[in-house]
Amino acid sequence: MSKTIPKHCDVLIIGGGPAGSSAATLLAKAGIDSVLLEKTRFPRPQVGESLIPHFWKYTDQLGVSQILENEGFVTKAGGITVWEGDIHRISFAEFGFKRPALHVERDIFDDILLRHAQTSGAAVFENVSAKTIKFEKTQVVVEYLDKRDTESSHKSTIKCRYIIDASGYNTVIAQQNHARHHVNAQRQFLSLWGYFNDSRYFGADAKSYSVDQVKTVKPVTFVSSFKEGWVWHIPLRESTSVGLVLNTDKVKGLDYKQREAFFLGVCSQVPYLNQLIDNRNYMQRSLCARPDYSYYVAPVCDDQYYCIGDAGGFVDPIFSHGVLNAFYTSALAVAAVKESLNHPAGRKRYAQICANRIRQFYSFSRALSLGDFHINGTEFELIGSFMRSVPRTELELMLAASHITHRDSNFRKLMDAAKLTGKHLEVTDKARLITELVV
Ligand SMILES: Cc1cc2nc3c(=O)[nH]c(=O)nc-3n(C[C@H](O)[C@H](O)[C@H](O)COP(=O)(O)OP(=O)(O)OC[C@H]3O[C@@H](n4cnc5c(N)ncnc54)[C@H](O)[C@@H]3O)c2cc1C
Repeated sequence: MSKTIPKHCDVLIIGGGPAGSSAATLLAKAGIDSVLLEKTRFPRPQVGESLIPHFWKYTDQLGVSQILENEGFVTKAGGITVWEGDIHRISFAEFGFKRPALHVERDIFDDILLRHAQTSGAAVFENVSAKTIKFEKTQVVVEYLDKRDTESSHKSTIKCRYIIDASGYNTVIAQQNHARHHVNAQRQFLSLWGYFNDSRYFGADAKSYSVDQVKTVKPVTFVSSFKEGWVWHIPLRESTSVGLVLNTDKVKGLDYKQREAFFLGVCSQVPYLNQLIDNRNYMQRSLCARPDYSYYVAPVCDDQYYCIGDAGGFVDPIFSHGVLNAFYTSALAVAAVKESLNHPAGRKRYAQICANRIRQFYSFSRALSLGDFHINGTEFELIGSFMRSVPRTELELMLAASHITHRDSNFRKLMDAAKLTGKHLEVTDKARLITELVV
C-alpha cells in the first residue's frame, strides 16, 4: 500500500535531483512541512558526472558528505584540455583545495542525496509527476499524476503556500508560464554521450593508465575541442563517460543508429581520445542525447514560486558547475521561503532578493561559458556583484578553466567590470602549458 500524499503542505518541491533533494533536506532540517514529488523512481540515469571540489561546502551543510565519502566515488586530480592545439593541465591541489573533486555515477550520487532527504524527514513521493500548477491568491494548487500503482495511475491535487520547481530540463513552471527563453538563437547546443568499457585515462602527470588503476592513480577529466565542438572523457568506476557538445543542426534529422554512427565517428577522429578508447568497447545502446539545453527562465522567482537548478536555466557544461548551481540556488530559495513563512508580508521582497541572486549566478555562468557578451539575459552589474562574493580559490579555478579553453578574455573583462583586477588573480603558473600527452 503506497503512502498517502497529503492534501496540503507549506512547500511543494517538484523534482528529486540535486536541486530538489537538497531543498527538501534543508526544509526538513528546519522543521518545515514540505512534500517532494519526483516523476521517476530513483536511481534514475542523469548526465553531469564531473564535480569540482567546491561542492563539498553544500554537502556539508546538508550533512551528507560522510555518506558520499563512504560511497567511494572516483576522486579526480584535475583536468587536461587540448584546445585548438594547446595542451594544458591543471591540478586542484595547486589551487589549495583540500578536498577532492569527484567523478560520480549520477544515478547513485542523486539517489544518495534523495535518500538523505528522506532520512532527514522529508516526505518524498517517487513515480508522481507534477502536471498543472494553478496560482491562486493565497495558495498554489498542483495537479499531479500518481503512477505508483502501475495498474491504475490517477490524478489528484495538493495545495501549498510556496512551490519550488526543481524539475531540471523539464522546467515545469517556465513551460507553463512561457517563461523559458533561448539564450541566443545561434547557440542551440546538443550533447550526445555514451559509455565505454576498458578505456584508458590520463592522470595528472599527463600519462595514460589502464582503467583498473583508477582507484590508485587519480584520473583527470580530459576535454578536447574539435572542429565542430568539444568532447569530454570522464573515467568512472565501471565505465567511462564520453560526450560531445556541438550545435544542434549537426545531427538534425539523424535517427538513433545514425547518431551512434556519428558519435563513434567523432570519437575515432579526435586526437588522444581515439587512443584512450576503442570503439569496439562502446557499450551498445548507451548513447543518450540532450537537445537545446542553453536557456534561461525569466522571471525565475515570484512571491509564490522559485525555479532552481536546471529548472531556472542552464547554459553549457564546460565548467562542470551544474550540480553546484543546483545546490547554490536551492540554498537561496530555501532561505527565501523560510523568511516568507515567518514574515508573509515580506514575501515579495524575499522572492525578489532571491531572484536577483539567482540571476547573478546564471548571468555569470552564461557570460563565462558562451564566450561573448551582451547576449540575452546577461547583466554586467549582476555578474560583478556575484563575482565579488566568490572565494578567491574558486575564482582562480574558474579563471584557469576559462584560460585553458581560450575563454579567459571574457573572464578578465568580467574581473575588470567587477573591480577585481587589484586582487592579482593570475593562474598561468597553475594552468600549465605542456607539450605532449603520453598514451
Ligand atoms: C551534456 C551535459 C553535461 C553536463 N555535465 C555536467 C558536469 O560534468 N558536472 C555538473 O556539475 N553538471 C553537469 N551538467 C549539468 C547537470 O546535469 C545539471 O545541472 C544537474 O543535474 C541539475 O540538477 P537539478 O536537480 O536541477 O535537475 P535534474 O538532475 O535534472 O533533476 C530534475 C528531476 O526532476 C524530475 N522531474 C522532471 N519533471 C518532473 C515533474 N513534472 N514532476 C516531478 N518530477 C519531475 C526529473 O525526473 C529529475 O529527477 C551537464 C549537463 C549537460 C546537459
